[in-house]
Amino acid sequence: MEIKAAVVRRNSGEFMIENLELDDPREDEILVKVVGVGICSTDLSGQTQKIPAKLPAVFGHEGSGIVEKVGSNVKKVAPGDHVVMTYWSCGTCKTCSNDESAFCLGFFQNFRGTRPDGSITLKKDGNVVHGNFFNQSSFASHCLVTERNIVKVDKDVPLEIIGPLGCGIISGVGAVMNCLKPKEGSSIAIFGVGSVGMAAIQAAIACGCEKIIAVTRKDARLDQAMELGATHKINPTRDAVVEELMYITGGGVDYSLECAGHPTVLRQAFDSLHRRGVCCLVGAAPRFTEVSLDMISIMQGRTLVGSVEGDVNPDDFIPTMIEMYKEGKLPFDKLITTYPLEDINQAVADTQSGKVLKAVLTP
Ligand SMILES: [Zn+2]
Ligand SMILES: [Zn+2]
Repeated sequence: MEIKAAVVRRNSGEFMIENLELDDPREDEILVKVVGVGICSTDLSGQTQKIPAKLPAVFGHEGSGIVEKVGSNVKKVAPGDHVVMTYWSCGTCKTCSNDESAFCLGFFQNFRGTRPDGSITLKKDGNVVHGNFFNQSSFASHCLVTERNIVKVDKDVPLEIIGPLGCGIISGVGAVMNCLKPKEGSSIAIFGVGSVGMAAIQAAIACGCEKIIAVTRKDARLDQAMELGATHKINPTRDAVVEELMYITGGGVDYSLECAGHPTVLRQAFDSLHRRGVCCLVGAAPRFTEVSLDMISIMQGRTLVGSVEGDVNPDDFIPTMIEMYKEGKLPFDKLITTYPLEDINQAVADTQSGKVLKAVLTP
C-alpha cells in the first residue's frame, strides 16, 4: 500500500516527507495506522549515522496507533485495537527466555533496516528504503510490526501521546521503579534531565523519594525539573556536584541515575552515593567508552548497574504506566509537545535547542 513517511536520504540530511510503498503484512505481521510517534535521541543517532543504520531510511520507534490489518498467525491484537509499539526482541535467546527481553542478544536487529530474514518492507519507485527501525519505522502514516513489539492498551487514554511509553518514558520510569526500586523517604540524584530524566523524576515522586536532586548544565531544564517536583537542583558549571550532593543528603544519595552517557558524569553519579547506594546507568555512550572508579568506594558496598529500556517486560509495564497516568501518579503528558508529521524538522530543531522535552509527531 502507499504510505506517507519521513525519509532520511543522506548522513545528517533533513527528514523529507515522501510517498512510499509498504509491503502487505506477512502471516506474523500487523499493519498499524500511526496516530502519534515520539522523537527519541536514537532516531537522531540514526539520522547522523552515530549508530550503524543504513540510509535511505525511515526512523521512528515510539509509535502509537490503531491496528488496521493482521496476518493469519496473529493472536495478540485485532483490527481496531489501540496499541503502543516498542523495541523488538527475539523471544528465544537466553535473556529473552529469562523474561529479560531488553537485554536480548539479537537487539541489533532493531537497527538493521530489514526484517530478521533480510527482506525489505519499504520501497520508493522500486528502490530500497530501509524500514523496520525498532521493527516499526513509525515516522510514517502506517507501519508493520510483530507481536514481539506491540502492546494493546485501553481506549480511554489519549492515543496520540502514549507512544513514548514504548522507549523514552519506559527507560526513565523503568530504571527507577524496576532497577533501583527506591525506598520511601530515600534520596535520589538524577544526572541529565531530558525526557528520560524527567520521567525518572516523576517515577521517584511516585515511589515516595524524599529528596530528588536534578543535575544538569541547563538552567531552564533545572527549573522545569523543580516544577515537576524535584526538591533540589545542581548546575555543574557553578556547583561542585559531589560535595553539594553530600551536603544536601548528609553523606551521600541512596540512589543515582545517569542519563547523560558521559564518563565524567557517571563518575560523579557513583561518587555521590552513600555506602550501600546504587547507581544506575541509562545514558548511552559511544561503544568502548571507559570510566574509572575508586575500588575502595566499590568495596564499601556501592553498586553500579546498567539498564536498557527500563529493564522491564513492556507487556506488563506499559499498562502499569498507563494506570499510573490515569491515577495522576505519572503525568507524562506534561513532558510532551505535539507537531504534525510534516513539521518533523522543526520538531527536531526544537528538541535539540531544548525548547521542548519530548516532541510527538501526529501523522
Ligand atoms: Zn532475545
Ligand atoms: Zn528510544
